Amino acid sequence: QNPVPFATVEQIAAVVDAKDTAHVPSGFIDLAGYRAQGGYRLLGECIGGGRDVESVIKTMENSGLRGLGGAGFPSGRKWRIVRGEAGPRLMAINIDEGEPGTFKDRTYLERDPHRFLEGALIAAWVVGIETIYVYLRDEYHGCRNMLEAELAALRADPPVPGMPEIILRRGAGAYICGEESAMIESIEGKRGMPRLRPPYVAQVGLFGRPTLEHNFETLHWVRDILEKGSEWFAGFGRNGRKGLRSFSVSGRVKEPGVKLAPAGITIQELIDEHCGGMLEGQSLYAYLPGGASGGILPASMNNIPLDFDTLQPYGCFIGSAAVIVLSDRDTAVNAARNMMSFFADESCGQCTPCRVGTAKTLTLIDKPKWDVALLADLSQVMRDASICGLGQAAPNPVDCVVKYFPHELG
Ligand code: SF4
Repeated sequence: QNPVPFATVEQIAAVVDAKDTAHVPSGFIDLAGYRAQGGYRLLGECIGGGRDVESVIKTMENSGLRGLGGAGFPSGRKWRIVRGEAGPRLMAINIDEGEPGTFKDRTYLERDPHRFLEGALIAAWVVGIETIYVYLRDEYHGCRNMLEAELAALRADPPVPGMPEIILRRGAGAYICGEESAMIESIEGKRGMPRLRPPYVAQVGLFGRPTLEHNFETLHWVRDILEKGSEWFAGFGRNGRKGLRSFSVSGRVKEPGVKLAPAGITIQELIDEHCGGMLEGQSLYAYLPGGASGGILPASMNNIPLDFDTLQPYGCFIGSAAVIVLSDRDTAVNAARNMMSFFADESCGQCTPCRVGTAKTLTLIDKPKWDVALLADLSQVMRDASICGLGQAAPNPVDCVVKYFPHELG
């Protein structure tokens, strides 16, 4: 049995030198370096009255920038909603990055940390945020040390008067804490378990206050969009889609890594144009378009635009754009087992459909002959009755095997 391939540490490190990642700085940009490149000028312009809140929100809305952690909620609209709630308001930035196969946030963060901080401070100005909490994946030790130092430098020499307080919080290795309400529970010092919604975190979030929650990468793009204009960002895109996506590509390709590509690119185009093709002697067999949760598609479906909304008709989704490429040396059954074992481990255990459903599914798919009818029943219950996205999406890989890879089931 071949294990499902994820990018190795060496492969991820190779991103720095990948020819098509020229957008990622090859060196580290500290506060002085960022300022030397015009950093924090835009923030000063906003706070100094050079830009008005409404025009900034409009630019964000027109750019089409959506939440890049996976949910895909339109960013400008989110700013408008939270701004409309009574203060005090808080902000929570999600850098938990726990989706298997995802490493884009880390790639940007460890090279250009002030870009997302400026984006966060601009969002804070627009929405009227008092305090910003940054929730960082605990495994990113190097990033934590770096971010602590850069935040200290920023506090010592703030770019604008009255800068909101920025508090760095460490995660503790739980996948579920990447779910926005579980992250909020965790920041509050409680066990990270998703909340029932409504109320949404925009209304009742951190410490009971209206909360603007953003993925790291969403904020990373704010400065570029406001400086270059909404048309700049919306002008990218392919196959009828708009914007840019940072694909974390791993698996059986020659050049894995973070690939900044037009939204709507297909897997075949991504592999051919950005990843140097498949590994020598291997051919595309299947791909996971959205990490562990986003399902598995066969090579015959290599022409679907990869973006929010485009994969739903096939029972899949792009999530945080973690694309895992499988070759003729892999099987979809093995990938599904790997994913289900991950979900069974990471289920927070709060609700029965997910806690029992993931464990039961794992037992069923470990058998040589799958009971497809029983699996379909379980899958339906998990989708309908789980509290959060983990339990609702956990059946995706198994359902995809039944739908697209029946030949593997004998
Ligand atoms: Fe926890 Fe799973 Fe229920 Fe989500 S679906 S709340 S992870 S038990």
